[in-house]
Amino acid sequence: MFDQTTYYFRQAAEIMGIGERIQRLLENPQRVVKVEIVIERDSGELATYTGFRVQHNNARGPFKGGLRYHHTVDEDHSTALAALMTWKAAIADVPYGGAKGGINCNPRELSPGELERITRKFTSEISDVIGPNRDIPAPDVNTNSQIMAWIMNEYSRLNGFSPAVVTGKPVELHGSPGRDEATGLGVTFCIREWLKREKAEIKDRTYAIQGFGNVGSFLAHHLEIRGGKVVAVSDFWGAIHNPEGLDVEGVRQWVEETGKLQGFKGATEIPRDDLLFVDCDVLVPAALGGVFTEETAPKIKAKLIVEAANAPTTPEADKIFQEAGVTVLPDVLANAGGIIVSYFEWVQNIQQFRWELEDIRSKLDAFMSRASNTVYDLAENKSIPPRTAAYIVAIGRVGKATVLSGI
Ligand code: NAD
Repeated sequence: MFDQTTYYFRQAAEIMGIGERIQRLLENPQRVVKVEIVIERDSGELATYTGFRVQHNNARGPFKGGLRYHHTVDEDHSTALAALMTWKAAIADVPYGGAKGGINCNPRELSPGELERITRKFTSEISDVIGPNRDIPAPDVNTNSQIMAWIMNEYSRLNGFSPAVVTGKPVELHGSPGRDEATGLGVTFCIREWLKREKAEIKDRTYAIQGFGNVGSFLAHHLEIRGGKVVAVSDFWGAIHNPEGLDVEGVRQWVEETGKLQGFKGATEIPRDDLLFVDCDVLVPAALGGVFTEETAPKIKAKLIVEAANAPTTPEADKIFQEAGVTVLPDVLANAGGIIVSYFEWVQNIQQFRWELEDIRSKLDAFMSRASNTVYDLAENKSIPPRTAAYIVAIGRVGKATVLSGI
């Protein structure tokens, strides 16, 4: 996975001609922390887990990035995703560097008490390298606002009241209004700005979304209220399709009640992975990495792909899309709404002053629109894909900060 992000980085670095010295400086992480976490399980047995925190680059500000609890968490994944965070923060123009990490575990096998113990132990193991001005974790796959609350509490126990040590906290405990919808709403703004260049609006297009979790469901909601026709959505268990447009609010209610898309009336059930190949204008992966490969890419019908998930497109698939004239709006831009509203949460914690939801939405719109148009203008002017343009913007900003700070 690190090779995949490095590939896109090198492609842009070559066009920029930044030279091998700076390239090497920006490519590798500044710090990799690996810790052993020992907890007592409910049964009384001892269990050991491995945790990681990779800090990629902090030239533009404190490290920032999510924590995952998943069996795929390792040094390679965390490093690749930490680098993505560096570029994403630079494109969004929020004052952060990039980090990522988590614990190699299956949280579904852990009781709430075990989950709390593992989180507190991990926090104390990495407490020397995180902090409001050092490294600010956030939720990611299988971590949520409750887990952020435990991290804040454990860190504060060791260091004094520090709500700004993590973002994505519950609104009742120093979290920010609008953080839950931030990534999905940010994707909506990113699409809207692209469509303006095609002299079109959200309501003029049809959409298929892979994944109906936090990002996918809020995206579907914000597309629908702007008149967009969502024709298919999928989750881990299956996919539903209605060429006339799904009733997204109905689907959201159904999932809230049953936990799954399956069984929703008003749509046809199709095999899960067929979602990628349905007739639609805009296809949004909002579930997993590595979805578009040499096998799947040639069969995609959509002419616009918007990467709400991190790293869904392999370099091989990216080439296929370029040759086929399929536009890809890259992850480092499209899903930056999360880090932008995390930044707003951090600022509110430092100011100890709560902003209103409308204020957050309009500021998110301003940040996403500016980032999108910077990338799209460069892509247009240089006749390069938006991904390459996004990396050029990011590498330019991080490289400049690195050189200005003094190597
Ligand atoms: P989530 O866990 O809330 O939802 C994931 C959804 O994907 C669920 O509906 C799940 O059932 C579905 N899914 C899982 N495997 C699938 C499969 N094989 N096929 C189809 N659907 C499948 O996660 P999320 O927070 O919505 O994140 C989704 C993606 O967006 C991830 O790649 C994440 O890294 C990225 N992302 C999230 C945020 C954020 O703020 N939540 C920010 C940036 C990027």
